[in-house]
Amino acid sequence: PVRVRFAPSPTGPLHIGGVRTALYNYLFARKMGGKMLLRIEDTDQNRFVPGAEDYILESLRWVGIEIDEGQGVDHGDGPGPHAPYRQSERRDIYQKEAQRLVDEGKAYYAFDTAEELDAMRKRLEEANAPAAQYNAITRMQMRNSLTMKPDDVRARMDAGEPYVIRLKTPRKEEVRLNDLIRGWVNVHSSAIDDKVLLKSDGLPTYHLANIVDDHLMGITHVIRGEEWLPSAPLHVLLYRYLGWEDTMPQFAHLPLLLKPEGNGKLSKRDADLGGFPIFPLQWTDPFTGQVARGFREDGYLPEATVNFLALLGWNPGTEQELFTMDELIASFDLTQVHKAGARFDIQKAQWFNHQYVRQRPDAELAPTVQQQAEAAGFDCSLEKAEKIVALLKGRVNFAREIFDEAGTIFNAPTTYDEAIATAKWNDDAVRAVTAFRDALQTFDGAFVADAIKHKLGDAMQQAGIKQGKIMQAMRLALTGLGAGPDLMLTMEIIGKDETVKRLEQALG
Ligand code: GLU
Repeated sequence: PVRVRFAPSPTGPLHIGGVRTALYNYLFARKMGGKMLLRIEDTDQNRFVPGAEDYILESLRWVGIEIDEGQGVDHGDGPGPHAPYRQSERRDIYQKEAQRLVDEGKAYYAFDTAEELDAMRKRLEEANAPAAQYNAITRMQMRNSLTMKPDDVRARMDAGEPYVIRLKTPRKEEVRLNDLIRGWVNVHSSAIDDKVLLKSDGLPTYHLANIVDDHLMGITHVIRGEEWLPSAPLHVLLYRYLGWEDTMPQFAHLPLLLKPEGNGKLSKRDADLGGFPIFPLQWTDPFTGQVARGFREDGYLPEATVNFLALLGWNPGTEQELFTMDELIASFDLTQVHKAGARFDIQKAQWFNHQYVRQRPDAELAPTVQQQAEAAGFDCSLEKAEKIVALLKGRVNFAREIFDEAGTIFNAPTTYDEAIATAKWNDDAVRAVTAFRDALQTFDGAFVADAIKHKLGDAMQQAGIKQGKIMQAMRLALTGLGAGPDLMLTMEIIGKDETVKRLEQALG
């Protein structure tokens, strides 16, 4: 059975690229009837941000990604059979495997200090060597258990001298892997340096911890960002050395998210382009106290976010653009994920949000409008707010913009569009507005759009005025503008008294 994992590092809230990775894992797991795991990769103590784990969990919940097993999960029987799922709580497991590699001659202790490593780098630079690497050639000049006498090694360890465990990368070996998205990747082992597996603080590096956990947790597919592709050959080598090559997971490296022009990776710094530093939570930076921007805070709906993220790097090859989560699961195909980077277009994201805002029930969006109106000092019943939503939700990208669009409802015009006034405010217009105002004096029954429409029609007929000719003037009188949403509904919402008042104001 398929088992995939999302393995974020709690170094801050999730970036949209990370959420897309989680989403693709989830879609694949659901499609294949498999399981989705969440593992927290917190072995880099320097980059650890308190609270980030909770934000990650909440972000996943918000977009609707359900975790079957792992950190933060409890379906009644704890997080799952491979707990703990936080790497910092699994250090014994990694130490044991690192030690096994040393014992089998596939890894070694290295005592080099930072200064010694610097000196090596300098030497290599001066000799014009390709890239400074700790590898099969240079390791013979360094201080490690391959070049030192066993007694000396023991003595230093007993004396508490800091050391790391490094992989003894083979000098001449071809490493191959068949990536589900990118096809065959071949790398010569001379291009892989003797990576640190266990750090001097006793914690594993990402590489070791990742491989050990993926193996022990029975992961069948590793789906992650392209930035990890260069590490994949090293990972294959590690599976081989650990004796787990025949159950090695399949790899799928997802395309990068690019800026809209395709000129480089979308980074956390590209806030205007949608590379928001966080996703999707309000997050206060513990160091600066700054509250960062998130998709949720910007007013994106979860279903819109899921929809546009899913299409960043994949599409089902049809014209369909709007997908529910279930539809995405049904059509998702990992092997159809694109190789080329996906351009992130914030305008397109807004378009998706527009599509979903207009589908939301009026009653659900009404309280926001009511709150905004009241905060701005207007009286607004929930019923009125609901009518405003119905009138305007098709015209906005975000729910909060409905109130902004409702300016002509809450405020009588203070100015009138000049161009429209010049073109349309003529004698007929004045006659029409006057006739309609007078007709409204005798209006009885509910002041609703249909009835208003009739009343207006009758009044124009009696006055012998062609309605089509004066509608823009009527709108100008009521709103000050030449265009806008349905005028009958607008009148219904502002009410009879206000309608009459505005008509009078326009007549001057
Ligand atoms: N902890 C890694 C990250 O934060 C996980 C990479 C992987 O999925 O292997 O991106």
